[in-house]
Amino acid sequence: MDAYAGNIAYIDLTAGTVKVKPTPASLKEDYIGGRGFGIRFLTDMVLPDIDPLSEDNVLVFASGPLTGTGIPLGSRYEISTLSPLTGCAISSNSGGVFGWKMKKAGFDAVVIAGKAPRPVYLFLDNGEVSLYDAAEIWGKTTSETTDIIQQIHDDKKIRVACIGPSGEKLSLITCVINEKYRAAGRGGSGAVMGSKNLKALAVRGEQEIAVADDDKLNLVKDRIRKKIEADGIAQALHDYGTAVLVNIINENYILPTNNFQSAHFEGAEKVSGETIKETIFKKPKGCYACIVQCGRIHDFEGITGEGPEYEPDWAFGPDCGIDDLKSITLANNICNEYGLDAVSAGATIACLMEMAEKGYITHPIRFGDAEGMLAVLRQMATREGIGEELADGSYRFAERHGHPELSMSVKKQELPAYDPRGLQGHGLAYATSVRGGDHVYAYMISPEVLGAPEKLDPYETVNKPEWVKTFQDLTAAIDASGMCLFTSFALDADDYADLMTAATGIRFDAAGLMKVGERIWNLQKLFNLDRGIGMETDTLPPRLLAEPLQEGAPKGMVWKRDELLKEYYALRGWDEKGVPTTEKLKELAIH
Ligand code: SF4
Repeated sequence: MDAYAGNIAYIDLTAGTVKVKPTPASLKEDYIGGRGFGIRFLTDMVLPDIDPLSEDNVLVFASGPLTGTGIPLGSRYEISTLSPLTGCAISSNSGGVFGWKMKKAGFDAVVIAGKAPRPVYLFLDNGEVSLYDAAEIWGKTTSETTDIIQQIHDDKKIRVACIGPSGEKLSLITCVINEKYRAAGRGGSGAVMGSKNLKALAVRGEQEIAVADDDKLNLVKDRIRKKIEADGIAQALHDYGTAVLVNIINENYILPTNNFQSAHFEGAEKVSGETIKETIFKKPKGCYACIVQCGRIHDFEGITGEGPEYEPDWAFGPDCGIDDLKSITLANNICNEYGLDAVSAGATIACLMEMAEKGYITHPIRFGDAEGMLAVLRQMATREGIGEELADGSYRFAERHGHPELSMSVKKQELPAYDPRGLQGHGLAYATSVRGGDHVYAYMISPEVLGAPEKLDPYETVNKPEWVKTFQDLTAAIDASGMCLFTSFALDADDYADLMTAATGIRFDAAGLMKVGERIWNLQKLFNLDRGIGMETDTLPPRLLAEPLQEGAPKGMVWKRDELLKEYYALRGWDEKGVPTTEKLKELAIH
């Protein structure tokens, strides 16, 4: 009784074999679960020189010990793999109820190697693991795939995580979609599934998830529930969804617009969370055991679906100069159906728009062209026309046409919806993220804009490396635990440590939890260094280093790499080239 399901399934798709083994105690203590399990398995199983889209790559689905234990917002699972987009070890998390059901099916993790000779899907069914022929669902969208698998097994309670047609076509900016609308995004895990001829992972489970100390856990649950309920950010997320950020970020002149050419969008109000609520919104939706319910169900003109969340709203909106909310929502729905990563897809179209406007490529699309955006997105989803090139993301497209500097990416992954020129700490988080351009491996927007846990000056560089390191390590631990990152607006490391101790029976304090997070971060960094992804990639696109912002309070600012990176490496116990020292690895017991 330690909140774990107790078993890990190892699948070899080439041989068609399954082995089930107990979850090792040392793995639980040193890496907790979720992202920690994923990065450890990748390190142990993936050789340095392999092709990410070959049978040599490995894909890990893993929940955390707090997933599915009834703790508010304890709903997450992670998908880890070697990214075909960035070449980094990536771990992407998603909510819904899939992670909970995977545990109730009896598994903490599923480790998938090899390549099936023909399309298959995997079914975890109350302790049993089976492979099924997927000929009937190959080529189907994510919602069709989900419905058909539920029909085949005559059970609507089965939960499905799958790829869409874009993953089958090996687009490097694809994700895995669970329960039709929840995306484990960034880095191209959908293409890895496609390369393995694996269409879906389906789960059905009724097994009990027993925790170490029910009474103690109930006390901590009660405490953290009160903290989340009292939190103003959680309330705003419930009322307006994540798109509540549109107006806030725009008012701070850090909303990237027209492929980061400016940071203020005139049409922001039209695509804001407030406007979503007044127009296309039907009702909120939450993941398993969520008391915040930041999800949005939309319903307009016969179109229903979920979203748009803040990031897709921005990527197809301000970043493309578009203020038509319905077109943005349609684009978001296309991404869900085809399994495209919405941030990368929108940002890649924004890159195309700038290339076209500057005459670097002959194409009729321009900023603000909503119809053109939807047409190009459909081509990307199916790899037709110019979509054949765009389906591999902005960096490869812009480089092929002679202008890699117009890809707003880090480690070839498109940046999200915050301009780092007016956010020095967040810029450092982008540059040093171990999975490429990303905002959720250290959400520095929390202190630099939202004032949680305290308000920092976003233009200041002093002390930012320490803040970024703390956020990175804490986030890695949260991602390992199975908790939603949005809890971090209200909770601190002591809260997570208390939850972990009560649920697992393994004694954690705040320092011990942070140490696990630091171990995961360093292991992910080492994985990348082994593949030649080093210091030269810890930077931002040239525009953000050299072209100052032109408006508002951050006018005149660029991102100050030199003031931040050296101190960050030193704080991490890395050498001047960003390589973890022997002493650091010994301290973290990494081998
Ligand atoms: S806050 Fe949002 S993302 Fe997090 S668990 Fe709740 S509904 Fe899911």
